[in-house]
Amino acid sequence: MGGPLELFLGDEVRLRKPHPCGSHDWTVVRLGADIGLRCQGCEHKVLLPRRTLEKRLKSFIRRGAEGVDVAAPAVDAEPAR
Ligand SMILES: [Zn+2]
Repeated sequence: MGGPLELFLGDEVRLRKPHPCGSHDWTVVRLGADIGLRCQGCEHKVLLPRRTLEKRLKSFIRRGAEGVDVAAPAVDAEPAR
């Protein structure tokens, strides 16, 4: 089933159902128990419980800066020597 969904500020996500403005695409603007999303079509902001977002999420369009290497194997970051 995979682990909990990893989300980062600035992630751009596509949801299964369009917003009334017609856009499917949202930007992650707040992290926490509830995830803040801003509609890319009309700038409307919503808060969704993480579980609800996981159900509605269709795909990632782009990962935010913190998630650029999310696809890489998890390794402990070692300071450069
Ligand atoms: Zn909208």
